[in-house]
Amino acid sequence: MRLSGAIKGLAVLGSTGSIGENTLEVVRRNPGGFRVISLCAGNNTELLRRQAEEFSPRFVSVQSAEAAGALRKGMTVPVEVGFGAEGAARAATCEGVDMVVSAISGASGLLPTMAAVRAGKDIALANKETMVLAGPLVMAEAVKKGVRILPVDSEHSAIFQSLAGHRRQDVKRLILTASGGPFLNTRVEDLASVTPSEALNHPKWKMGRKISIDSATLMNKGLEVIEASFLFGVPAEKISVVIHPQSVVHSMVEYTDGSIVAQMSRPDMKGPIAYALGYPERLDAGAEALGFERLNLEFSEPDGARFPCLSLAYAALRAGGTMPAVLNAADEVAVEMFLEGRIRFTSIFSVISEVLERHNPGGIASIEDVLEADRWAREAARSSVSGLSA
Ligand code: NDP
Ligand code: MG
Repeated sequence: MRLSGAIKGLAVLGSTGSIGENTLEVVRRNPGGFRVISLCAGNNTELLRRQAEEFSPRFVSVQSAEAAGALRKGMTVPVEVGFGAEGAARAATCEGVDMVVSAISGASGLLPTMAAVRAGKDIALANKETMVLAGPLVMAEAVKKGVRILPVDSEHSAIFQSLAGHRRQDVKRLILTASGGPFLNTRVEDLASVTPSEALNHPKWKMGRKISIDSATLMNKGLEVIEASFLFGVPAEKISVVIHPQSVVHSMVEYTDGSIVAQMSRPDMKGPIAYALGYPERLDAGAEALGFERLNLEFSEPDGARFPCLSLAYAALRAGGTMPAVLNAADEVAVEMFLEGRIRFTSIFSVISEVLERHNPGGIASIEDVLEADRWAREAARSSVSGLSA
C-alpha cells in the first residue's frame, strides 16, 4: 500500500534489534511509502550489512570503531559508516530524515533521540528509557520544536489510540495491561531459583533480552507507567496496571462517565510500529486479524509479593527528578548481572531497592543532570551487587 502523502524519510536506530527488524518489515510491506535514510546498530555488523544492501541508506552507524572497520570491509554498496555516540546522533539527524524510529535498547537511546528532537525530527518512540530518564526535558523540547512523539510501545500506542477524539480533562485513569510474563503462576518461593533462560522465555512476545527480563519482574510495566505519565501528562495516581495474560487488550483509558475505551489486536509489534510510522494513516502492518471465535479475556490485580519491582517504579515516579533515571540504571545493571548468572532473579529487586534508598533525588534541569544520576546509580548498583556476593 502506498501512503497518500510524500515518501517519508526514516532513520532506524537499533535496526538489528527486535523492534528494528519489525520496523523494516513494515517498510517492506509498504513500498513507496518510506525511504530509509540511515540505520544505526550496536555490534551485529553482519545483519546491518544485509540491511544496508537491501535498503541503500546514505549513512549507517555502529557502536564501536572496531565494528565500523568490520562493517566497511564487508560492505558491497556505497554507504558512509560512522560509530559511537556521535555516529548514532548523526544517524538520527541526517538531512532527509522526517521520522526517527528510536529503538536502541537501554539508556543509550536517550542522546540520539534527544538529538533528533532538537533537529526537529518526528519520533516513533520504542526506547521507553528516553521518557523514563528525561521525559519532562524531551517533551518540553518536542513542544518547542513542534515535533510529534508517537509511541511504539504497544500499551502507549493503545492509550494514544484510545485518547483520540476525547478531551483530556475527561480522562479519569489510564489502565496499562501486563501479560504477567513467564512467572505469573510460579510459586513465589520458587522465584529465587529461576534461571536466565526460564526468565527470557516470554509466553506472548518475542523481544530483546533486557526487556524480556523486565517483563518477568514486571519492571517493564513499571517503566511503562513512568513513560505513560510523562508522555500523556497523567500523574502516578491516575495510572493503574492490570494483569491480562492473553495480551489482546493492549491498554485502556477510563473516562469520568465510567466509559472505558480500549485497543485490541493480536500481540504483534508490527501493529503499533505501523501505526506510528503511518500516523494518522493506517498502513499494512502484516498483522493477523483477531478472531472472536474462541477469545477468552482474563484480567486480575498484580500480586505485589510476586512483582515487587512495580511498586519501586511507582515510588520513583512519585519522587520525580533524577529518581526514575536512577531506577532505570540500577535495573539495567541488575538485569545484566542476573543474565551473567552473578545474582539471583529475586536480587534484581533488592539491588534496585537499595540503590533507590541511597539516592537523594535532585531536579533535572538538563540532560547532564540525568547522565550524572545514571552514572551514580550504575556505580551504586555494582557496589550493591558486590555486597550481595561477598
Ligand atoms: P533488542 O535488544 O532486540 O535490540 C536493541 C537494538 O539496539 C539492537 O539493534 C542493538 O544493536 C542496538 N544497540 C544496543 N546498544 C546500542 C548502542 N549503544 N548504540 C547503538 N545501537 C545499540 O531490543 P528490542 O528491540 O527488544 O528493544 C528496543 C527498545 O524498544 C527498548 O528500549 C525496549 O524497551 C523497547 N521496546 C521493545 C519492545 C519489543 O517488543 N521488543 C516493545 C516495546 C518497547 P546490535 O544488536 O547490533 O548490537
Ligand atoms: Mg510495552
